[in-house]
Amino acid sequence: MGNACNSAPDDPIDGASFSAGKARGLSLANMAVGVNEATLKMQQRGKIMAEYVWLGGAVTTGGFDIRNKTKTLDFSPKSPEELPIWNYDGSSTGQAPGSNSEVLLRPIAIFSDPFRREPNIIVFCETILPKTHDPIATNTRGHAKAMFDQKPELVPWFGIEQEYTIMAADDATRPIAFDEDGGEPAPQGPYYCGAGYDSAICRPVADTHYKACLYAGITISGINAEVMAGQWEYQVGPCVGIESGDHLWISRYLMIRVCEMLGCNVTFDPKPAKGNWNGAGCHTNFSTKPMREDGGYKVIIEAVEKLGKKHMEHMKLYGEGNDRRMTGGHETSAMDKFSYGVANRGASIRIGTDTEAEQKGYFEDRRPASNMDPYLVTGKVFETTCL
Ligand code: ADP
Ligand code: MN
Ligand code: MN
Ligand code: MN
Repeated sequence: MGNACNSAPDDPIDGASFSAGKARGLSLANMAVGVNEATLKMQQRGKIMAEYVWLGGAVTTGGFDIRNKTKTLDFSPKSPEELPIWNYDGSSTGQAPGSNSEVLLRPIAIFSDPFRREPNIIVFCETILPKTHDPIATNTRGHAKAMFDQKPELVPWFGIEQEYTIMAADDATRPIAFDEDGGEPAPQGPYYCGAGYDSAICRPVADTHYKACLYAGITISGINAEVMAGQWEYQVGPCVGIESGDHLWISRYLMIRVCEMLGCNVTFDPKPAKGNWNGAGCHTNFSTKPMREDGGYKVIIEAVEKLGKKHMEHMKLYGEGNDRRMTGGHETSAMDKFSYGVANRGASIRIGTDTEAEQKGYFEDRRPASNMDPYLVTGKVFETTCL
């Protein structure tokens, strides 16, 4: 098996020695800011590195298009409004013609930078037009926020289960647990929540990312190894409204950065291996204040019934290539059929046993693919069930 990233014994986020790079002959990685104690100790003379992060319009690493560039600040911002609006060349990210290429970056959330460490920050930005400051065509956040802003009193909570698959360093299309000559690892069975070199493949990636999210200030609620070899999951939530999408996007960015540092690739593709292998999803758990209060079960069932009436509308927004994953097998429901049930992992919507027993709680929309846009999904779930 080619799971060389298993050989990272230390946690680079904790500033310990970084041997994953060495194991893969990546000597430069040892020099990188964020993995080298000496570099981290260098004084910055009161200046702060602000990594502006935004969503481009192409498909790049991992199946998304997450871009970043850094600005030096001479103050430590307390809120995104204190930060300068910046700009970039939208013609290089598939978002603007070369003749009128400027797109603006408006800061919307600040996180601690787990690689450069405090006081350095990651600044998540939305993309807006230079003149009107309206969202550009690929900015889906604006619409989602408009949905949530209509009924803030419902206090919608989302918990998103992000599944992803570790891919080979030299071939981002090949799962790291699969051989170059097409040889497959042992069949599914030992990997889900597994322990051991042959089961918990690339645990250092999952663990380093977990720590990076906690350091950054992402609301991450846990991780687990998944059913396919080299596939993992982490959960972001519960987050209120628009914050769910913001935190999920930055968690994805951190995953891409961790894999860059540890010398492997990641894919968020919903079906990275053909054959008898599970795909990857983004189960979206949802509740509103009335659902969490006594008697909320009735509100939950009403919401689920509403989702049933708009099934295909939702499926269109739930991720590219979801048809390759939602076959009705491998713990999925069929793409074109809506269903729900208590504790049913083959249904579109699963209601937890606890929620039924307590007659209040939340439900799980199991349909979204691992590569879904959380602004589209959370906005649509709220629109269909609450507006
Ligand atoms: P599963 O049993 O499907 O694997 P997980 O434990 O992986 O579920 O993920 C459940 C997610 O739902 C977590 O992110 C958790 O924080 C979130 N969650 C818990 N309670 C609620 C709630 N009332 N509303 C919305 N999300 C919730
Ligand atoms: Mn889960
Ligand atoms: Mn899962
Ligand atoms: Mn789930």
